[in-house]
Amino acid sequence: MRDYEGRMPLLFAGHGSPMNALEDNAWTAAWEALGRELPRPKAILCLSAHFAGSKSLVVNVGKPETIHDFYGFPQELFDARYEAPGSPQLARRVTELFSDARGTDRWGLDHGAWSVLIRMYPQADIPVVQLSLNLSLKGEEQMAIGKKLRPLRDEGILILGSGNVAHNLRRINPRMKEPFPWARAFDEAVYERMMSGDYAGIADFMALPGAHESVPTTEHFVPLPYVLGAADKEEKVRVFSQDYVFASLSMTGYLIGA
Ligand code: ZN
Repeated sequence: MRDYEGRMPLLFAGHGSPMNALEDNAWTAAWEALGRELPRPKAILCLSAHFAGSKSLVVNVGKPETIHDFYGFPQELFDARYEAPGSPQLARRVTELFSDARGTDRWGLDHGAWSVLIRMYPQADIPVVQLSLNLSLKGEEQMAIGKKLRPLRDEGILILGSGNVAHNLRRINPRMKEPFPWARAFDEAVYERMMSGDYAGIADFMALPGAHESVPTTEHFVPLPYVLGAADKEEKVRVFSQDYVFASLSMTGYLIGA
């Protein structure tokens, strides 16, 4: 990896099951490739589906704990640790750029963050800070927060959104080979808007076909509007992973501005 002076790209990763921290498959291979190929960030600001509520909290701790926020998985997943340092400096910078954000020491790294980062940066030597998703805001307001954070890209910070475009756990069906039509319709509608730079269409995601079944709760989708707020419409968008799991989750990942 090379040091980078310039504008960092943006990422939205479809994280799916926590087991992706340990298993090898097409998307974990894609995360590993990104870790090798992207310019090496000075630090990472992560917006995870699993740190969401009605406030904007930024984790300000020197050594974030690995949070095992799931159950019913093998012991080796509970034994896994991702010991990247935090960055009080980046946490402060986030509150400078976005004055509604409040520091907290009551969070560490949830699996939305570490299950992806353990594959991208297995050496855990790049500081990571999480900013919570405020689910009481509209998509356009979430995008406006991303816009405030845009200067971070010129300061060597990688902004990583971690969720899933389509995510309906009540409808998962391991026996189905093909995705539900609504999951595919929603994933494709998002793709078309991503490729045409129609970010207002992403902010208004509940109006897209299949949205009500694909986004029964919004926390896995909204890392995308946050991330896109920091993007320019002219920037190149690339899909680095695409597939469906259990018919109701899409694993689409987007790289913007690389
Ligand atoms: Zn998740």
